[in-house]
Amino acid sequence: MIDLHTHTTNSDGTDSPHALVNKALSAGIKILGVTDHDTTSGWEDAIRARRADLQLALGAEISCLTEDGVAVHMLGLLFDGHDSKMQVMLEESRDSRLPRMRKMTELLTADGIDISLEEVFAAMPEGATLGRPHLADALVAKGHVASRDEAFADLLHNGSKYYVTHIAPTPEDAIRKIRSAGGVAVIAHPFATRRGQTLSAMSFPSLIEAGLNGVEVDHRDHSQDERQQLRGIAGDLGLVITGASDYHGTGKLNSIGENQTDPAEWERLESLADARRVVTE
Ligand code: AMP
Ligand code: ZN
Ligand code: FE
Ligand code: FE
Repeated sequence: MIDLHTHTTNSDGTDSPHALVNKALSAGIKILGVTDHDTTSGWEDAIRARRADLQLALGAEISCLTEDGVAVHMLGLLFDGHDSKMQVMLEESRDSRLPRMRKMTELLTADGIDISLEEVFAAMPEGATLGRPHLADALVAKGHVASRDEAFADLLHNGSKYYVTHIAPTPEDAIRKIRSAGGVAVIAHPFATRRGQTLSAMSFPSLIEAGLNGVEVDHRDHSQDERQQLRGIAGDLGLVITGASDYHGTGKLNSIGENQTDPAEWERLESLADARRVVTE
């Protein structure tokens, strides 16, 4: 079993990298992608926790914005974690998440939904990439909403009046940085319309030109119809097809391994990195 897209407490998941590795092992996963939002800080713990039967494809899920303001997630896998341009890009995104979060708490509070930055910090694990899920958890803790899901549906979704963006590269920028750091770029859940506005099929040529390698097709936020369309695009453009759980621990319903990547597709993807960076020993 190959699951290339998961989150830990280093972003908005609820399992530590160590716990994630244990869960993957007991679920029978052989190759696990560790892809926290805008950070590589969970890699070390995952490597320490790894055991013989499990290979690690370390990476990050990069939060991007198109010039038209569409939110896009780009998975970078197998890149050099020491690449300074990559780390600067990730750091800029993380740094801007603090003023962004302050603004969101101010907008909510001004509208009578009282919540402070301190309360959001209390809901965030040490060292995590600060994000809306932590604000959601703080809103739950305060009794404003019943769950993360309800917080997103009512208050925090991309179209909400309380939504504020953070600094983010364009998808093309992110792809170029991933590739020049030696890794492979896979666009995450590109047609997940229930998350808000998405890219159209017309955006793919520009992503390909930047160096896109693959497309995540099997993801719970894609309908069968969306998967079919994406398979067509991947076939036409020669993109590798992946499937993954986007596991977040108890932060989302997604269970580890619920969608998987075909071994032949994985082999093709892995061969496109500039070095063998899968952690096997
Ligand atoms: P941010 O990067 O701070 O803008 O937060 C975006 C993250 O929120 C995404 O990566 C998702 O994992 C998470 N998210 C989006 N919608 C939901 C939802 N309905 N329930 C829980 N988490 C969500
Ligand atoms: Zn997330
Ligand atoms: Fe995502
Ligand atoms: Fe994700």
